[in-house]
Amino acid sequence: MEKGYSHSRASEHRSRRNRRRLMLVAILLFVVGCITFITIKVSDSKSPAQTQELAQKTDSVAHDPSKVQANADSKGKAAISKDETDVEDGAFVEKYLNQQMLGQLPDGANGKKVAYLSFDDGPSVTVTPQILDILNKQKVKATFFIVGKEANENEHTRNIVKRIVKEGHAIGNHTYSHNYKYLYPHRKVNVDRVMQDIERDNQVLKSILGPDFSTRMIRFPGGHMTWKRRDPQGMAALDKVLLQKDYHQVDWNVLNKDAEGKPKKAAALVNQFIKSVKGREKAVILMHDTYGKEETAKALPQIIEYLKKQGYEFKIMK
Ligand SMILES: [Zn+2]
Repeated sequence: MEKGYSHSRASEHRSRRNRRRLMLVAILLFVVGCITFITIKVSDSKSPAQTQELAQKTDSVAHDPSKVQANADSKGKAAISKDETDVEDGAFVEKYLNQQMLGQLPDGANGKKVAYLSFDDGPSVTVTPQILDILNKQKVKATFFIVGKEANENEHTRNIVKRIVKEGHAIGNHTYSHNYKYLYPHRKVNVDRVMQDIERDNQVLKSILGPDFSTRMIRFPGGHMTWKRRDPQGMAALDKVLLQKDYHQVDWNVLNKDAEGKPKKAAALVNQFIKSVKGREKAVILMHDTYGKEETAKALPQIIEYLKKQGYEFKIMK
């Protein structure tokens, strides 16, 4: 009996001790919860640069950019909201460049430095993968103006196009053929041929990226400004068709001259770029990722680091 009594006292003592332990654990959990809550609140009020970096990280992991692009296309400009930090409305860039070219103060001039890296004439199996590796390492996104003929060359080039989208970059249309003589015979803009070539490029891209893919971004081989100067009437007719189809053409206002004059070494490309970007608040930067442009890839890390140091943020165009 006494033994039993002392046994029950001992168990009562034990259960009291257990209750105390439970209380302690509950208090501990509450404290940890409070600390976590405070930490989240503080990280919400991070600097814009940190938020930007975070957005870029989540961008490359959390969703399929080709779907975002398709959504934005079907719902119009307002749909571009989630990626607002690093996606620019192509119509904005188009208008900005047009106003700048006319010597006007562009509507979007607001003191914020933005760099739009763009690569034309690819993909190539030699240079494009190098450029993608560098962009990954530097955690910045770019816009690739794809030539359909190059994209459809073989399984490797098609996979590179998929990789571009998967890694969060944007794709623009640079026509299927990129053939000046065909698109601009006798230095005149052939509206029907240009539009057919743009649609053919789209078909190639859809066959690689899926039927949901679409892009509003166009860059003319040789540049819109060149052909507007040579054939103002032809270009005006083409502009009308583009407008109807909600296409937006963008040229550039900065270049590294990797497709002009004699081939240059990386250091010369960086120098050309630094001269060209001077004073540009919104910098639409033209580079090339086609065959033979290895020096462009070599120059790219320095170009990106220069832009970062100068306080530019990076955006893609859609
Ligand atoms: Zn080109």
